[in-house]
Amino acid sequence: MSRFFLPTKIFFGKDIVLNNKEVFTIGKRAFIITSPSSFKNGSIEDVILALKENNIEYSIYSTIAQNPTVDQINEVSQLVRNFNPDYIIGIGGGSPLDSAKAVAVLAAENSLKAEDLFDTKITKCLPIIAIPTTCGTGSEVTPYSILTSNTIQNKKSFASELIFPKYALVDYKYLFTLPYDVTINTSFDALSHLIEGYLSKNSDELTEIYVTKGLELYSQIKENLKTKNLNEDDFKNLALISLYGGIVIAQTGTLIVHPLGYNLTYFHNIPHGKANAIFLASFLKIESKYLPKEVEFIINKLGFVNIDNLSQFINELLKDSKVLLNETQIKNYAERSILSKNVNNLRHTLSLDEMIFILNKSVNQK
Ligand code: NAP
Ligand code: FE
Repeated sequence: MSRFFLPTKIFFGKDIVLNNKEVFTIGKRAFIITSPSSFKNGSIEDVILALKENNIEYSIYSTIAQNPTVDQINEVSQLVRNFNPDYIIGIGGGSPLDSAKAVAVLAAENSLKAEDLFDTKITKCLPIIAIPTTCGTGSEVTPYSILTSNTIQNKKSFASELIFPKYALVDYKYLFTLPYDVTINTSFDALSHLIEGYLSKNSDELTEIYVTKGLELYSQIKENLKTKNLNEDDFKNLALISLYGGIVIAQTGTLIVHPLGYNLTYFHNIPHGKANAIFLASFLKIESKYLPKEVEFIINKLGFVNIDNLSQFINELLKDSKVLLNETQIKNYAERSILSKNVNNLRHTLSLDEMIFILNKSVNQK
């Protein structure tokens, strides 16, 4: 059985915002949610041009932090409610895009606070235009928003079909200004979406098409990623890999690499994509016990000989910066991760010992 739902209109290509300015006429007042880099990569400039040409009133919040907190979302949503927009534009990496989704709900539901989003059935949301400027999260085509909660000391997601952006405008030229480490880290986020999506019990014939193509594209660019020699075609492919990863997890969800990574992001300030990359190889080792053919398919499509070969590649790109954890931290992170609802997306049961194995293999012990 296949079940595929993606209500987002996707526009992909160079100068896609400039060539499709009419998209911004979905309303008369727009609130833009973004972060500082948008003023350097050309995205804000393109959007403002489109808004001005269509006489759309707009206001901007431009300082969304990485891994946005519930508190920041509450602060922004007050400004947004005061401006009273009829739609939201999110521009940036996953942090501004996920913030745009949260704010789009809070602007439509005045009585809600950001912390309510995790356990309230969402019934209203302003339309969202999502413009990604990193190559990792695929948030422009997913029904998820991931926020940081200091109350639970973790990252937490909320999901609703209503927060799928109405439009995703993907222009890979915005990636040209990415620092090398952000390109690497976010590409690993996209790769982990493809891998976790493929191994999920929700994977099917339709998601497999995007996984296969995404892994093949990653195989093509991996050498240039390693040699820091990325050309325009590589950036186009990176944007596509990220988009495919988003399309896949929108259907399948993610597995345990993500909840494991949240520990490293929350407690050790490690960027999301890098945190996933740290766990990918040992996760595949465990999965190869249960799904040997599927893991072999992934390794082959990526053009590696075996999991160790992939692990070597990841370490080289991350510059072997292994995290140091003590035994108590390892046990604690394993216990937190096994409680995640993502465990239910696995095709098999997973023991706490296996979770500890993944952590032990991926980090250095103090
Ligand atoms: P990010 O936190 O949005 O941004 C990372 C860094 O990249 C920031 O320093 C940002 O700078 C910079 N940056 C962004 N675009 C740039 C550009 N074009 N040129 C130069 N610098 C640029 O990173 P992300 O990895 O894309 O997003 C991570 C977040 O997404 C996490 O919270 C994660 O949990 C979430 N996520 C969501 C989904 C989903 O389905 N919704 C899936 C996976 C991950 P400035 O801050 O200065 O702008
Ligand atoms: Fe992710």
